[in-house]
Amino acid sequence: MTEIKMNSTAQWQARDARHHLHSFTDPGLILEQGSRIIVRGEGSHVWDSDGRKILDGMAGLWCVNIGYGRTELSDAAKAQMDRLPYYNNHFQSAVPAMIELAERLAGLTPAGLDHFTFANSGSEANDVIVRLARYYWKLLGKPGKRTIISRTLAYHGSTVAGVSLGGMPAMHGMDNGTLPEFAHVEHPHWYVNGGDLAPADYGLKAARAIEEKILELGPDNVAAFIAEPVQGAGGVIVPPETYWPEVQRICRAYDVLLIADEVICGFGRTGAWFGSQTFGIEPDFMPMAKGISSGYLPIAAVALHDRIFDVIAKGGLWPHGYTYSGHPVSCAVALANIEIIAGEGLVERVRDDIGPYFQASLQALADRHPLVGERRGVGLMAALQLVRDKATRTVCTMEDNAAILTREACYADGLIARAVGQSMVLSPPLVITRGEVDELMEILTRALDGTARTLGLM
Ligand code: PMP
Repeated sequence: MTEIKMNSTAQWQARDARHHLHSFTDPGLILEQGSRIIVRGEGSHVWDSDGRKILDGMAGLWCVNIGYGRTELSDAAKAQMDRLPYYNNHFQSAVPAMIELAERLAGLTPAGLDHFTFANSGSEANDVIVRLARYYWKLLGKPGKRTIISRTLAYHGSTVAGVSLGGMPAMHGMDNGTLPEFAHVEHPHWYVNGGDLAPADYGLKAARAIEEKILELGPDNVAAFIAEPVQGAGGVIVPPETYWPEVQRICRAYDVLLIADEVICGFGRTGAWFGSQTFGIEPDFMPMAKGISSGYLPIAAVALHDRIFDVIAKGGLWPHGYTYSGHPVSCAVALANIEIIAGEGLVERVRDDIGPYFQASLQALADRHPLVGERRGVGLMAALQLVRDKATRTVCTMEDNAAILTREACYADGLIARAVGQSMVLSPPLVITRGEVDELMEILTRALDGTARTLGLM
């Protein structure tokens, strides 16, 4: 076995700064401060190049659902690599691992979502859905139905179509490169956008913004509406209970396909296999990635409802595919990962045990802490909204820098948490123990106390 030769942290940082352009990072910071070098993981913890043990409150990028260090997945990868490292699914070919994964997924997804196409990332999965949704309407003789409606602060990927689907201002602004035929409506965050409305009324209002947008564009021009069951990268925005049923009604009423982006919510994160099951959503398409392999290898899938597949099946040759659509090794690893999630009852654990414990711990903190106005979340994804004034729901300002200060204090104290706008975001591995949740809460509380003191709130 070839071991990576260990360098000192300073050596790694110097080599990294010389040749590597990082994702979602200011390159200037890498040049000035160097990167954080992570070298090893086990369970819910990672270790950095100084040997420091850090609790990963984000499960990597919301993806390491089964935790680090599960050799069942490396065994599955080696076995598949030894047997057949590569073959593809183009031109009428298939590999057993692809067939088994599609079949396994069909048994887990909501009724009717029985057909799967594979990709390598959530972004690619969403790209193909844009193509498929338009193709579906074209085959039905409605080629004008092309625009996809999404939401502000949505995250659907970093490819050109992914960014256009998304609603992140900085991403749109980077190259002014958003495509035509994408539209956006308000994200359903009651605490910030709800004003004097009760959450239930605001949920209906936010859903009806979609109806207004469909009518403005003309139903004959709208292909689909896409949304994450819980907006993840936008700040774990859980909509009011009235929202999803009304969205569902509107999409059906105007013949607009419904895409539930399960890239974060899928594979147990919300306490069901899919967020659509937690919220009673009946989507036409479901992109999934991340937790499908717990991040051990890149793989994504798109579930197509039977009613979509039946139309596409009559369309003749479908001109789409990636070299690595359904890569056999990734499929084998995804299957081993799903066996662990199912065999260890991790979905039920999130729903009945560790999810409620995690949310209750955060709620208790939110109730007593002057800097926290709102705890939102479901299962093992959550956010704390940082506020200047709880009574008036006045959130911290950009200048307060409260979330970034808190994030940095967490990291210095051994916890990876994420700062999104004026919120702290958490999404730990599904295997996190109660003791580790307590550890997470202690570090987070100390960090929030420090930020509150800096802002003069404590
Ligand atoms: N959709 C959602 C909801 C996501 O959170 C992400 C990634 N964070 C993506 C799509 C894109 O996935 P990827 O980074 O694998 O391309």
